[in-house]
Amino acid sequence: MTAQIIDGTAVAAKAYDRIQADVQEFTRIYGRAPVLATVLVGDDPASQTYVRMKANRCKSVGMESRRIEIPAEASTEEVVARIEELSQDPGVDGILLQHPVPAHVDGRAAFEAIIPSKDVDGVTYASFAKMALGATGFRAATPGGILSLLDAYDVPLAGKHAVVIGRSPILGKPAGMLLLERDATVTYCHSKTKDLDAIVSTADIVIAAVGRPELIQGSWIKPGAVVIDAGYNPGNVGDVEYEKASEAASLITPVPGGVGPMTIATLLEQTVAAALDARTLTAT
Ligand code: NAP
Repeated sequence: MTAQIIDGTAVAAKAYDRIQADVQEFTRIYGRAPVLATVLVGDDPASQTYVRMKANRCKSVGMESRRIEIPAEASTEEVVARIEELSQDPGVDGILLQHPVPAHVDGRAAFEAIIPSKDVDGVTYASFAKMALGATGFRAATPGGILSLLDAYDVPLAGKHAVVIGRSPILGKPAGMLLLERDATVTYCHSKTKDLDAIVSTADIVIAAVGRPELIQGSWIKPGAVVIDAGYNPGNVGDVEYEKASEAASLITPVPGGVGPMTIATLLEQTVAAALDARTLTAT
């Protein structure tokens, strides 16, 4: 079997068409475009690139982005205060804190300074709780994008065994929660998991979210499984041994061009939703 490629760039392009239409409508009605504030603490080159990509995407669909740069030496209190200002600013609809933040800054405190109604990257406790309980709210952007990809390819989830490798608060853990909400049977694996190969080989759906190049070997993939590789390692290498896994899988995401594009699309979708929610709530 040779896997069909899950084309994240193409799925995201369709999402951007929808977002652009929504932004035009919003701008026509409310006289300004939805605004995403991007907060960058320090000058990590990779983070700068990610923030630039998000700002460029905003521009391409007619949204505005406001870039807030905070010096690397800022204290947790200073970062929190700046994010709290954005939380209260009626001219800002969504807030993205680019992570990781420098080690001396309390990242959780910084996330929690984002008011949940503007938490378009789905990083706060409030967003996580709503997502885990299946309530309306903002999803963590990468897991939300993964679900959109699975839906775009009509992958059945109910009753399927999904194995999520990785349990970070922004990726693995929420990805498993979203799959559970959709009635998959979910197994989490992490750095202390024993017999990872045996567990992965029972998966109908594999979600790789580790950050270790080609940790998931192709020979572990059950014939016909769906493989989603969220990992991104230097040299455009994912967490899955792509060529070998493609021989067994029915569907697989490439790296790059799989999970990454839908992450940004989800962020923008949620920013438009936040902008609309704010107007609806003000009007009622
Ligand atoms: P993270 O916070 O470092 O978490 C990594 C997870 O992998 C942890 O839960 C860790 O287990 C687990 N792990 C580490 N070594 C393992 C091993 N040998 N076997 C099994 N599990 C192991 O990373 P993250 O932020 O979730 O990111 C993971 C990857 O996704 C990275 O490559 C990152 O670049 C990528 N990513 C991509 C996007 C995108 O938009 N495409 C977005 C976010 C992240 P413990 O919990 O036990 O330590």
